[in-house]
Amino acid sequence: MDKQQEFVLRTLEERDIRFVRLWFTDVLGFLKSVAVAPAELEQAFDEGIGFDGSAIEGFARVYESDMIAKPDPGTFQILPWRAEAPGTARMFCDILMPDGSPSYADPRYVLKRILAKTSDLGFTFYTHPEIEFFLLKDKPMDGRRPVPADSSGYFDHTPQNVGMDFRRQAITMLESMGISVEFSHHEGAPGQQEIDLRYADALSTADNIMTFRLVMKQVALEQGVQATFMPKPFSEYPGSGMHTHLSLFEGDRNAFHESGAEYRLSKVGRSFIAGLLRHAAEVSAVTNQWVNSYKRIWGGSQRTAGAGGEAPSYICWGHNNRSALIRVPMYKPGKTGSTRVEVRSLDSGANPYLAYAVLLAAGLKGIEQGYELPAGADDDVWALTDAERRAMGIEPLPQNLGEAITLMERSELVAETLGEHVFDFFLRNKKSEWEEYRSEVTAFELRKNLPVL
Ligand code: GLU
Ligand code: MG
Ligand code: MG
Repeated sequence: MDKQQEFVLRTLEERDIRFVRLWFTDVLGFLKSVAVAPAELEQAFDEGIGFDGSAIEGFARVYESDMIAKPDPGTFQILPWRAEAPGTARMFCDILMPDGSPSYADPRYVLKRILAKTSDLGFTFYTHPEIEFFLLKDKPMDGRRPVPADSSGYFDHTPQNVGMDFRRQAITMLESMGISVEFSHHEGAPGQQEIDLRYADALSTADNIMTFRLVMKQVALEQGVQATFMPKPFSEYPGSGMHTHLSLFEGDRNAFHESGAEYRLSKVGRSFIAGLLRHAAEVSAVTNQWVNSYKRIWGGSQRTAGAGGEAPSYICWGHNNRSALIRVPMYKPGKTGSTRVEVRSLDSGANPYLAYAVLLAAGLKGIEQGYELPAGADDDVWALTDAERRAMGIEPLPQNLGEAITLMERSELVAETLGEHVFDFFLRNKKSEWEEYRSEVTAFELRKNLPVL
């Protein structure tokens, strides 16, 4: 038994923890949990805990049944909203096959594979997510219009603001679980919040995002509201993005940084961005996986720009250009250089393991193939005409999930990164979502057509 495992077993005793939840994530990004008694843990560390994989989205059709969840002791945390004794704790798991080999259906393994390749190339990959979400008065289950929990706006600080109390409690809870928060504020739309996590290696960030979503929902319930990570719950307000700042380090040196270079961006950094741009459209189905994701990208960025409605619609990069898909933020002086790239397409409904895996794969491809970085866009690209954008070589992101799926289906990069099992399941699942949506007669059509046709 290693030190971390011993620490977990000792803490269980000392803190009177009677329930240990083993967490993992399905292919669509939903958290799954199985509780075990502390007495079972020693064996769980050795061999894992068996469960029926056929009930899990994305595991089922690939492997018919027996699978094993093996807890990662490095992720042990006590759940603060279950603080009373006897307490409850959780660990993230790796999913294994009955023979002990890693399961190709496990999103955590998808990310681990590309991280292993990254480390073979001499790099460590760090991510810093800015997570946006809405607080609603309640969550209508019947498709009614939701009602925001407050009526504040960007950076508002008002005494009757539900969001403020909410953020204080939520952040305290995150910090007590070892998740550091850097910034938080009210976002542009009524009820909309943003909380930014401190940068960490991508696997920890993805685990943290899964925890984050649960904590937000939990705190919201305690405060009599509902948290949602749906990318675009309102047509007239901005949607919820999960902009993420990415950087590669070589040892303790920021590999994107070169003092003296334009924007202090090294050749590695330039090629990484070029990779993100060249593969942006084909990874879209993963970074923006829902029918609704494309309503955020195409609905209302122009109308609400400046009020935090700046979801990117076009594939380009810029320095301080918030209409660009990729932004190289202002340099913050520091020992190792703070050069990083912000990807703004990602939304809060993505599976973070898969989304970070495909973004990393796209950036690495740029480095390996030495892609040249096209000229940056200084203009507000929404304000240009289609012809102007075409002349500048700026392409749109996919218009909808259907288009995104078609592009993903042809993508060697995505197939290779997700692995055959996840790739096939994902495409099948998303095609059926798209077909279901495509055949639905919407409120829009009834409103537009019924009165006049
Ligand atoms: N809510 C915007 C989005 O959907 C982002 C606003 C911001 O710049 O933080 O991407
Ligand atoms: Mg924001
Ligand atoms: Mg941002």
